[in-house]
Amino acid sequence: MTGTFLGMPAFRQAASPQATFPQAAAAAVRDERLRANLRHATHTIRDKRARAVAELDDWAELRAAGKAIKDHTLRHLDRYLVQLEEAVTAAGGIVHWAADAEEANRIVADLVRATGETEVVKVKSMATQEIGLNEALAAEGITAYETDLAELIVQLGEDRPSHILVPAIHRNRAEIREIFAERMAAWGRPAPEGLTDSPAELAEAARLHLREKFLRARVAVSGANFMVAETGTLVVVESEGNGRMCLTLPRTLISVVGIEKVVPTWQDLEVFLQLLPRSSTAERMNPYTSLWTGTTEGDGPSAFHLVLLDNGRTAALADQVGRQALRCIRCSACLNVCPVYERAGGHAYGSVYPGPIGAILTPQLRGTTSPLDASLPYASSLCGACYQVCPVAIDIPEVLVHLRERVAEQGGHPLERAAIAAAGYVLDHPAALAAAERLAGRTRALHPRRLPGPGRAWTDTRDLPELPAEPFRDWWRRNRS
Ligand code: SF4
Repeated sequence: MTGTFLGMPAFRQAASPQATFPQAAAAAVRDERLRANLRHATHTIRDKRARAVAELDDWAELRAAGKAIKDHTLRHLDRYLVQLEEAVTAAGGIVHWAADAEEANRIVADLVRATGETEVVKVKSMATQEIGLNEALAAEGITAYETDLAELIVQLGEDRPSHILVPAIHRNRAEIREIFAERMAAWGRPAPEGLTDSPAELAEAARLHLREKFLRARVAVSGANFMVAETGTLVVVESEGNGRMCLTLPRTLISVVGIEKVVPTWQDLEVFLQLLPRSSTAERMNPYTSLWTGTTEGDGPSAFHLVLLDNGRTAALADQVGRQALRCIRCSACLNVCPVYERAGGHAYGSVYPGPIGAILTPQLRGTTSPLDASLPYASSLCGACYQVCPVAIDIPEVLVHLRERVAEQGGHPLERAAIAAAGYVLDHPAALAAAERLAGRTRALHPRRLPGPGRAWTDTRDLPELPAEPFRDWWRRNRS
């Protein structure tokens, strides 16, 4: 994949760290085709999800259980990760610890190189996108082939994912046909002659293109939706079966997984295997649920490596309000109900985690030093729809406000800082406040109707309140006496 968030064409131009979210989203909100694609897709998925969730009488209890299990696990993450490592090792796997993206990429590249292979097949994985694994492997002369249909579209189109569950949600069928017809040959088997944009033909073209890769690959890279500490079992849920091909056919399997994906027991896993499919694809259960524990002779890969990824997660864990973002099971329900995401699309978030969860997770994983990351907590109307649908009850608005406070504390516009410092002084000194009120009352005819500088945008859509001629204190003193 050669596309980057910085170098995308036309409306898919995404966020430079020097652009804020509104700047990065400006082109997308004017793109009618993109907005139509997004509107159709998100409304369809959200309606189906609502019906699937309504089928369960105990959805609220399941949601509370999911939240409680995640909170408990995060509180004792050190214990469960060590238990997981022991179980994976006992089952014949090898566990590696990666503090950041660079270390994780180096571990994976070394492992692939040690096999003598120069190609890997990949199961859709947010963690490997987060660390830029494909690009890191390419720099080492190793080609990574995405095998999930939507990820394949993104890879062939030299694009970037714009949705957690449906990475090519910003593409319509005609665009996908064009990408397949023009780009498949450069990556392997070309698209069939006369390919149309019928879903069945597009799926068949992808199937034929990918099959030769499944049968040839000796190394696979995956993520995991969950890891069960008590047995060292990893779980991947998916809808297409490509994941299972990658997890069973190659000789070596390397799984890169965020440390927050561990759950203590199989009983805990049961809760999430009910929450996730209904909340993501609106299915009662996933078409393919693959589970593996270490290695088994004569069955599946003979070598299994688990790379446990931190990359900012322990820093998020240290934040008492922000840590709830680590409960996320990547269902994407919050994206599909978000009015901001529906209009801005996923690329403007400048990370593999778009939408409401991206607005709270990315600034915690990457910090808030770049203009883009500092603006993400503001990429929300705080309507709360994301919190309502989240299957693990992440209070996204609460974290957004908390992160806004962090951004405000670290700086802001010099005029804004000066105004707040002046207000702080005046409100702290009653005599100064009384004098300021009198002065403001007497000069009210001269007051501007709009704020200058950084406050200008606020008064674009609001009127400044008019000040009374006489301050309340003076009125009170005069009337009482
Ligand atoms: S924050 Fe909640 S709703 Fe959004 S992707 Fe994560 S689990 Fe799903």
